[in-house]
Amino acid sequence: MAFVITSACIKDELCVDVCPTDCIHPKKDEPAFEEVQQLFVDPEECIDCGACVPVCTSDAIQDAQEIPAELQSFVAANAAYYGR
Ligand code: SF4
Ligand code: SF4
Repeated sequence: MAFVITSACIKDELCVDVCPTDCIHPKKDEPAFEEVQQLFVDPEECIDCGACVPVCTSDAIQDAQEIPAELQSFVAANAAYYGR
């Protein structure tokens, strides 16, 4: 399992700057950035380090294993962005 970004994301890339595996996209220099409402975690590249959670001032990042039921759909949404 991985960490998951939800709709509370404000695309400020604070998490991108601390992620050791560069598994959070799209980034500002990628074409899709303007089209998406939030960023997404690649579940196959995330190493579950949790470094992104404390830097997110929007409380938008959840551990997929502990995610509340009402946010469960974001597990699939994050994976789907990467075609997983
Ligand atoms: S730090 Fe939080 S609000 Fe900012 S881009 Fe990452 S998930 Fe979105
Ligand atoms: S848990 Fe670690 S590897 Fe996974 S998205 Fe957050 S910072 Fe990146």
